[in-house]
Amino acid sequence: MTIYHVAVDSTDSATLGMCTTYLGAVLLDRLSELPMELLSPPELVRLNPNVPWKTRGNGAFCLRYEGEEGLLDEILFIAENVIWDLSVFEDPQTNPGLVILKGQVPTSFRDIYHRALHEILDLDAVKEVGNSANAFMKGWKNERGLIGALAAVGADLSLHTYEAMLYRPAAVKDRKRQVDAKTLREASKRYPSTFFNVDAAGNPVCIPHSPCPVILGIRGIDPSDTLEASRMVKADGIERWVLWKTNQHTDAHIEYVKDLTSLRPFSSISTEVTISSPPVYREGGHLFFDVIDPQGNTATCAAYEPTKGFRKNLTALAPGDKLRVWGSVRSEDVPGITINLEKVEVRELAILKTLSNPRCPKCGGPTESMGRDQGLRCKRCGFRGAGMEPVENIMEREVKPGLIEPPPDAWRHLFRPSCLPANKEREYAGSWWGSGAP
Ligand SMILES: [Zn+2]
Repeated sequence: MTIYHVAVDSTDSATLGMCTTYLGAVLLDRLSELPMELLSPPELVRLNPNVPWKTRGNGAFCLRYEGEEGLLDEILFIAENVIWDLSVFEDPQTNPGLVILKGQVPTSFRDIYHRALHEILDLDAVKEVGNSANAFMKGWKNERGLIGALAAVGADLSLHTYEAMLYRPAAVKDRKRQVDAKTLREASKRYPSTFFNVDAAGNPVCIPHSPCPVILGIRGIDPSDTLEASRMVKADGIERWVLWKTNQHTDAHIEYVKDLTSLRPFSSISTEVTISSPPVYREGGHLFFDVIDPQGNTATCAAYEPTKGFRKNLTALAPGDKLRVWGSVRSEDVPGITINLEKVEVRELAILKTLSNPRCPKCGGPTESMGRDQGLRCKRCGFRGAGMEPVENIMEREVKPGLIEPPPDAWRHLFRPSCLPANKEREYAGSWWGSGAP
């Protein structure tokens, strides 16, 4: 018996439709004709969300099989055909890559996976890693999809969630889906281990509005619950479904760095800082404040308009507050380094003081200033003199220590919300994909 890893990336288009995961769903179906079995759940692998030329969610997939020797040519034939049939070649950002590896995954592939979450990788360097492991690689157009495909083969999903995705035929390009929102709300309630279904007002957030084949995706931490929840949702025109195991919502893209000198553009980081300027709104409704690390290095933190209420909760922060921040590093927006905030933990609030006039030491009456450097006078008895110093008051803060997160509709694919419990392996013996409704 032989193990085959089959991975694909960069086949879809943000504007013209398709979804690489749909191509994966079709490939699962077509590869089931061969004498081999899925060795593990189909894997949906999100990579660096800051790659400038990503197609949609920068998602690749990997299917891992165990089967007879000598199937490589047949796998190849089927996979190439599916890619030819479904990829959106006319989009300049779409540059498909197919990687097939036989046998165990080498550590060099694991390294590529981890680097592909944080960096912009060089195609030739990635091809060299593939060649040294005798992987089959086929790229189309500029072949950049080979990077994501090889990274997907090397994916480490020890931290993971699941997503049950329902698909319609690729030919359907309607931006609107016929989904019964009431059944979605019910499913969300019945299966609390699922998340990202509806927002606080009960409006669906798991239904795309693009011309792609995805009708909806139910995300969750338990495979059975996730699939069952997707079964409860009434939707028209379901052609097929897949229950993906994925690195979504695990913070896999975050590098924990010790200070602000380690920030590189296009990476995503978490580090501890102190606020050095009050939060201010600038043009476009974006919120900015400056931060400083213990070594005196500085950066600007930004919360952009689409994060909505997240910004409002951050406006209560003040210079001196100690934070842990999570976010992606940008350098093009403003001079210097900007951290595009994904979430913030308030670790320690600064003590903010205001000054107020004391009561009169003689009669207890209110006091008033007599002008600059002229001291204070009692308004009631006219007393002036000793003991009339301004009093320091500690300000009540409108923010408490703890996490500040954006609402679900502003979450990125890899963002880990604090509502998710610790990761653990969960039992599941059902199917991972199928035709028609799940
Ligand atoms: Zn007085």
